[in-house]
Amino acid sequence: MMQIHEIEAIKSLLATTKEITIIPHRNPDGDAMGATLGLYHTLKQLQHNVVVMAPNEFPDFLAWLPESEKVVIFERSFDTCKRILEKTELLFTLDFNALHRTGEQMENVLKTLTVPSIMIDHHQAPDNYATHTFSDTSYGSTCEMVFDFIHQLSLENLINKTVATCLYTGIVTDSGSFRFPKTTSKTHKCVAELIDKGINNSEIHNLLFDNSSLNRLLLLGKALQNLKMLPEYKTTYITLTQEELNEFGHQKGDTEGIVNYGLSIKGIDFTAIFIENKEEGIIKISFRSQGAFDVNDFARNHFSGGGHINAAGGKSFLSLEETVQQFIAILAKEKK
Ligand code: 5GP
Ligand code: MN
Repeated sequence: MMQIHEIEAIKSLLATTKEITIIPHRNPDGDAMGATLGLYHTLKQLQHNVVVMAPNEFPDFLAWLPESEKVVIFERSFDTCKRILEKTELLFTLDFNALHRTGEQMENVLKTLTVPSIMIDHHQAPDNYATHTFSDTSYGSTCEMVFDFIHQLSLENLINKTVATCLYTGIVTDSGSFRFPKTTSKTHKCVAELIDKGINNSEIHNLLFDNSSLNRLLLLGKALQNLKMLPEYKTTYITLTQEELNEFGHQKGDTEGIVNYGLSIKGIDFTAIFIENKEEGIIKISFRSQGAFDVNDFARNHFSGGGHINAAGGKSFLSLEETVQQFIAILAKEKK
């Protein structure tokens, strides 16, 4: 929770009309987009000039979020974004806690800014770049934190159906539809309030999860065929090559959630998915665990990544085969 004096400082920052930029992490997910747009729709009602600026494109399955078409994309509109950042008077960074999570180019611009900044985030080990850091790993989503943040500022009257729709999106996606361990009674009370604001929770769920293309489902089938099991390490992993992604007309967001299937097998407490990205020259990796095995540590120590205890990500600059070999070698050393 934020300290009282910090809340007072933020209240006075918001007391006069400002140019505000709200930033999610690179490759934004439902929580990052829900939190930034939820805060955007809240602050706009206070007559601020607010922009949501994403480092790169957000996935299509989130394009129905209210006013997502107004999100500016740093990688696509570099000059516009630089100009916006130069006149920004207040910065929010949501759902990440290290500036490098915006990508090298955007990080370099952000580092030059001297305006007040507010971080709201639920990942482990926050960097110390923000004027006000609201970092709490006990939360299941940044959207739930934004909900509390709005309450702490006594702005809860601004949580209308639009704000509530955005915040609900991040809560439902980051909690795996309310099944992950950080789903608390507080989460459900928060959601109860959002439903009372008039959101159509069932329709939002449909828009998020029952809106797949045929290709996306066939890609999931391919991924499941590629699943390998290492029972001695209670581990499974999935690989997807660039060629396989191309075969199914891969769109951004199509691989979202596939990693979780690796944990659905009895006795498995650790899983990973390795996804080849030829354009970026990396293997993007997602890790998931059940129980005490800390995938944040695993991702940080071995794959230049991070995240949470039970959900993290990272990357490798080796080939797909070499990355998998490295992964298995690390398991042999660290996971018995
Ligand atoms: P996902 O596997 O769904 O992409 O990410 C799982 C969690 O790990 C998310 O909270 C995400 O923000 C975080 N994460 C994913 N990739 C990276 C990474 O490369 N670096 C860091 N620090 N966190 C990551
Ligand atoms: Mn999140």
